[in-house]
Amino acid sequence: MIASSASGLRREIAGASVAELAETYGTPLYAYDAEVIRHRCRDLAAWDTVRFAQKACSNLAVLDLVRREGVLVDAVSTGEIHRALAAGYAPHAAKAASGDALPPADPIVYTADIFDRDSLDAVVKHGIHVNCGSADMIEQLAERMPGASITLRVNPGFGHGHSQKTNTGGEGSKHGIWHEEIPDVLRRAEWAGLQVSGLHMHIGSGTDLAHLAEVAGALERVAIEVGRSLTTVSAGGGLPVPYKPGEVHADLSGYFTLWDATRKRLEDRFGHRIRLEIEPGRYLTAESGFVITEVRAVKKQGGRKYLLVDAGFNTLARPVLYGSYHPMSVCPRGEEPSHGAEDVAVGGPLCESGDIFTQTDGGFVATRSLPTASVGDLLVIEIAGAYGFVMASNYNSKPLPAEVLVDGGTHRLVRARQTPEDLVRGECV
Ligand SMILES: *Cc1c(COP(=O)(O)O)cnc(C)c1O
Repeated sequence: MIASSASGLRREIAGASVAELAETYGTPLYAYDAEVIRHRCRDLAAWDTVRFAQKACSNLAVLDLVRREGVLVDAVSTGEIHRALAAGYAPHAAKAASGDALPPADPIVYTADIFDRDSLDAVVKHGIHVNCGSADMIEQLAERMPGASITLRVNPGFGHGHSQKTNTGGEGSKHGIWHEEIPDVLRRAEWAGLQVSGLHMHIGSGTDLAHLAEVAGALERVAIEVGRSLTTVSAGGGLPVPYKPGEVHADLSGYFTLWDATRKRLEDRFGHRIRLEIEPGRYLTAESGFVITEVRAVKKQGGRKYLLVDAGFNTLARPVLYGSYHPMSVCPRGEEPSHGAEDVAVGGPLCESGDIFTQTDGGFVATRSLPTASVGDLLVIEIAGAYGFVMASNYNSKPLPAEVLVDGGTHRLVRARQTPEDLVRGECV
């Protein structure tokens, strides 16, 4: 489970040959290591509910894999509700057991700041639980699903994220219901005849644990305003993963202990059990994913050497969107040992100067020390299993790549590469 070998060479992913994967499925290709995903699910076993924020990686095979690990799912759109149902999730929980038991958890929760008309229809049709990020959703839901239970996504008035674009709290964020509005929103819910059964906060990705801890305190204060109808508390997502050398995993048990203490104080106050949820996206899949791409040109622009590969920001957008760092390694086509390393910039095929994988925040082209590669060698972009394929696009009329799941040395296609026909489907002249 080492992200990348120190040598910068990688010939295998989960026991499968990188060269064979490229040969079998073509490039660029997303490959996921199933066992890494299982491990990440099990890391969070202390929580009553692990709810996968599927927007990080929503391939049906991945959803099926986490479902078999007992992980529930979050949906932010009609399409994600459809995916969850297609992957075998039940639309809603069975009726609550009476007595001392934990309240049942809904397999699918719709979390968003709006209902578009389609998503409201889908929620009503399937009886999906809703986590409301805007007060206007309350009346919209009440009209169609009288008496429903809802949870509220709270903006605690502060936030944090690894970039301005991933900050999800504070005045700079559109997400959630502003903490000072909660008493008013509770009155609106009561007036509309909806039960507020839980609270949720998700305030930013890639954040440090000390900061996440502040969230628990803020949520506890709001929970007391909600009162005894509260049976679920969600800590949201945002668990970081190490992308850069030297970064480490978060202290998961410390994080759980902190939220568990919050939960226990609320249980004592209310006199009933409270379900504690966590809602990771990135954490469950980031490290499982690899983009396998082929070097198609090697050239010098003045003093700088460029490797141009057949994946671009149409394949993996995080570098151009956020200046994100991804480890990279080289898989030489032949068996001969690599001859040294060199500093190179890595770019893709798009007619767009931002199509560079080795860029820093602000779009500056940087270089990376990689084993010397030539045309035909494969370049593996690592830790690409979250916000990777799901953000891929058809820009420059490039097909979406194929996805494969590698499990114990065997591999299978879980999404076919798009065809030229797929690219013009629905168009007419
Ligand atoms: C994106 C998102 C998550 C997951 O965020 P990660 O940083 O990938 O863990 C969790 N909850 C909600 C509501 C989200 O929008």
